[in-house]
Amino acid sequence: MQTSGPRSRPLSLALLQDAVLRWYDANGRDLPWRRTRDPYAILVSEVMAQQTQVARVVAYYERWLERWPTPAALARAPLGDVLSAWVGLGYNTRALRLRETATIIARDGWPRDSAGLRSLPGVGPYTAAAVASFAFGERIAAVDTNVRRMAARLQTAPQSLLPQHRHADWNQAAMELGAVHCRARAPRCDGCPAAQWCPSNGLVVTAPRAARGTGERFEDSDRWVRGRVISGLASGAGLPSDISAERMTRVLQALQRDGLVTVDATGVGLSR
Ligand code: SF4
Repeated sequence: MQTSGPRSRPLSLALLQDAVLRWYDANGRDLPWRRTRDPYAILVSEVMAQQTQVARVVAYYERWLERWPTPAALARAPLGDVLSAWVGLGYNTRALRLRETATIIARDGWPRDSAGLRSLPGVGPYTAAAVASFAFGERIAAVDTNVRRMAARLQTAPQSLLPQHRHADWNQAAMELGAVHCRARAPRCDGCPAAQWCPSNGLVVTAPRAARGTGERFEDSDRWVRGRVISGLASGAGLPSDISAERMTRVLQALQRDGLVTVDATGVGLSR
């Protein structure tokens, strides 16, 4: 819903790009994966950040690269070790897909563009564009939720915002701007470097957060049990004992289908 607010100037792409890049140069967070062009390091950071907050990812990212600095090193690692290192990030199939991708890259080398990267396990359009942009310099918009929302408020397409030069920096800047200023709820238009060209400046009114419909707690979800099973097997503590047999059977079957655990006559273990 929108109400009346400040008027914006007609969109001047060059001026807007320049203002946003200057803002990013002065304000961008110093994240370790922004200091490298190593496609493997960038891929690790992007996969970890898919469903986990950036602040939590940094320590995992640094430990991961210290332990498995190359795709070949990760490809050789037992899956149990990989899943153990992932405990706490959640959505463990991401670790499985990352190791599969490392195995392919160790064997075949890197695809050099976003189209080739999209063929890798667990690599969708956004991740492929991010790796192609940050590691290989491809001129492509990396469109995550933040960038999509910001472009919509600027009433333009994300790809059309991409400058001719510094396009990798632009991708980082656009993501940062979407996360810091152009937030889904209560955007901070004051101080936003795009404000003077933005038709939505001061006009975005977000609805109150909807009440949770079902009232289901996280502890009631199978995802919670999955995380505890992986964590228990990785640490050697074994399966959690407070889960009903029926629920445990359902979760173990799903984990087996995903290739994360094996169940045989000797018991349950992390896949190798
Ligand atoms: S002025 Fe407001 S709505 Fe427009 S891009 Fe900036 S934060 Fe988003």
